[in-house]
Amino acid sequence: MALFDDRLMEVSGNVCFDEPMKKHTTFRVGGPAEAFVTPQTVSEAASVIRLCREFGKPYFILGNGSNLLVSDKGYRGVVIRMGRAFGEIRVEGSRMRAGAGAALSQTAVRACGASLSGLEFASGIPGTVGGALVMNAGAYGGEMAQVICGAAVLTKEGEVKHLNRDDLQMGYRKSCILPMSYVVTEAEFVLEPGDEEQICAKMEELAARRKEKQPLEYASAGSTFKRPEGHFAGKLIMEAGLRGLSAGGACVSEKHCGFVVNKGGASAADVLKVCRQVRERVFQKFGVILELEIRLLGEFDPPFEA
Ligand SMILES: Cc1cc2nc3c(=O)[nH]c(=O)nc-3n(C[C@H](O)[C@H](O)[C@H](O)COP(=O)(O)OP(=O)(O)OC[C@H]3O[C@@H](n4cnc5c(N)ncnc54)[C@H](O)[C@@H]3O)c2cc1C
Repeated sequence: MALFDDRLMEVSGNVCFDEPMKKHTTFRVGGPAEAFVTPQTVSEAASVIRLCREFGKPYFILGNGSNLLVSDKGYRGVVIRMGRAFGEIRVEGSRMRAGAGAALSQTAVRACGASLSGLEFASGIPGTVGGALVMNAGAYGGEMAQVICGAAVLTKEGEVKHLNRDDLQMGYRKSCILPMSYVVTEAEFVLEPGDEEQICAKMEELAARRKEKQPLEYASAGSTFKRPEGHFAGKLIMEAGLRGLSAGGACVSEKHCGFVVNKGGASAADVLKVCRQVRERVFQKFGVILELEIRLLGEFDPPFEA
């Protein structure tokens, strides 16, 4: 192991060990990552991936941690954070390129400033461009699939590859990125010329709707469950009488039952306990199986079937 650590520090000058993941997730939950690397360039990220594969070391790509629940025991592997070094945003006519680490909200603001329409839906989503592409993030009738025309990725061999829109296979909260173990380094957007004032007004309207409906005052990872076909997860949870259901510091939000929130000091075990109960009771009452939208990292005891 010491050999791996030494080699890791040779290929990257941006490594820390035993890094608490609660500092890197919007849930503010999660034990330590064995190693935490913040690559500064594509070739540094590629070297870290190649090294992990050479040593058979598990690795995980992190954006802003806004769709993630990390185990209280942490993660025995290398977390590779696609951060500010990958944050460049460029406008080229009606197209934009944004690095995987750029904030999606900032990308939407830049589009607005360039009088480009299409990213208004994304302005309140607290993820990175990379994480949003992976998850095909969406809101208020918009989703990444409508505006993405391609992406640059690293393959698991650490090679640079360009994917077009069809290659990305974007569906409801999914894309080919996770199944193929790609790492997004940059995304390309195709947008429509529009009126800056109208785009800005739309973004403000959506922000107000979020503020009114969502428990933004608490730590969370957004909607906990995917939307089951023909239903809304939040509505089913509310109608099953689970508003406010809690375990430790975690509870079903009273404001929006689709969110499990950390009211303070919640552990990952608390969050999953609430999720388990919600899932059981919704199934008992409506016969609908709720699938997790949030991603799990690390070991959970008992294991949770996402
Ligand atoms: C208050 C709140 C509101 C939210 N509202 C919405 C909403 O309206 N719509 C919506 O869809 N989501 C919403 N979310 C969830 C979340 O913000 C999105 O899923 C977002 O796209 C996740 O981006 P991230 O950078 O935080 O990804 P992370 O949580 O860091 O990672 C998510 C997944 O993507 C992978 N990943 C991240 N970056 C890369 C990369 N560069 N290359 C390869 N894999 C990568 C990770 O390995 C992980 O599997 C909300 C969350 C919060 C906290």
